[in-house]
Amino acid sequence: MKSLAALFLACLALALLPNAMPEAAPNTPTPIRIAQITATPLPFFTPPPTDTPTDTPTPTITLTPTITLTPSITPTPTIAPTQIGTAVPGLLSGDSALWTPPAPTNRVGGNFLFGRPFSFRHNTYWSREYGYGSTKRGQLQIHHGLDFANPHGTAIQAVGDGVVYYAGADVERLFGPRPDFYGILVVIEHPFMYSTGEKIYTLYGHMRETVAYNGQQVKAGEVIGYVGATGVALGAHLHLEVRIGDPESYDATRNPELWLTPYEGAGVVAGIVRDIYGNKLEGVQLELQAPGNNHLTFSYSGTRVNGDNILGENFVFADVNTGYYYLTVKGADGALAHRQMIYVWAGQVTFVEVHLLP
Ligand SMILES: [Zn+2]
Repeated sequence: MKSLAALFLACLALALLPNAMPEAAPNTPTPIRIAQITATPLPFFTPPPTDTPTDTPTPTITLTPTITLTPSITPTPTIAPTQIGTAVPGLLSGDSALWTPPAPTNRVGGNFLFGRPFSFRHNTYWSREYGYGSTKRGQLQIHHGLDFANPHGTAIQAVGDGVVYYAGADVERLFGPRPDFYGILVVIEHPFMYSTGEKIYTLYGHMRETVAYNGQQVKAGEVIGYVGATGVALGAHLHLEVRIGDPESYDATRNPELWLTPYEGAGVVAGIVRDIYGNKLEGVQLELQAPGNNHLTFSYSGTRVNGDNILGENFVFADVNTGYYYLTVKGADGALAHRQMIYVWAGQVTFVEVHLLP
């Protein structure tokens, strides 16, 4: 009996250890491991044979699985789907301030208003190397949108319902820093309101041709043109932007990754990376790591491209499958500067704020 009690206590202690959560496999649900501990039958529970064989002992020491623990770090998504998820407290070193931003009012009917600009038969993912706010490690000018590579002539779809604000070339009418920047483009005005009360637009650049016309009512998924490389473009691709307020202002963009609906089972991670003085840091490499599932992004400057008015983010990971991840940040010297565990909810924005120590 004594040894049993000791073993029971050992099991309990093991189950209660905060380190019981797997470190190497952060997205493995912990309940499975704990259930295995409690469910394992202990061989010496079999009552020893007594002198009188007729005296069948009753199995009085059958353990009920009382130590089935609900892991305390499994976040229950109690918040409404339109709200932003709270990051799970960091489990490792690093000065991670956790902050739950106010519920976004800038999105109507959910966090994500738009679909993809291509059908599923084509490439619906954008270049992660040259993301929003990126200079592709100093090689290109700062990016105000996302680039979707698809062959010349691939049909481009409107990402949401709206009215065509402009369809044509940007030679006489400027939408970028100089004439013929976007080549043949389409701008759609959507029937949603931003947090500031301003209108929301999407811009589609570098088209080979457009089949849309000014004032046209379009539906999400409707073909508005075809992929090309007009304007300032390296090869055939679609350049997609989200603009707020002024559809003709190059400085009115926001990160489309916060607007494109993630695929089922996936969510978005947005955040701010700062130094200890509170300054937002630019060009910081951030990684989300889970076994067989890694994501890479870079932070952007809030002065060269805008973050969301409410979130104020300067980095985003999009299309992240739900689960646990390590968020790691490397310093300029390549050494690990920050590491914490976060949980990504499907269909939501998980917000995390990182302060880097000097
Ligand atoms: Zn682009």
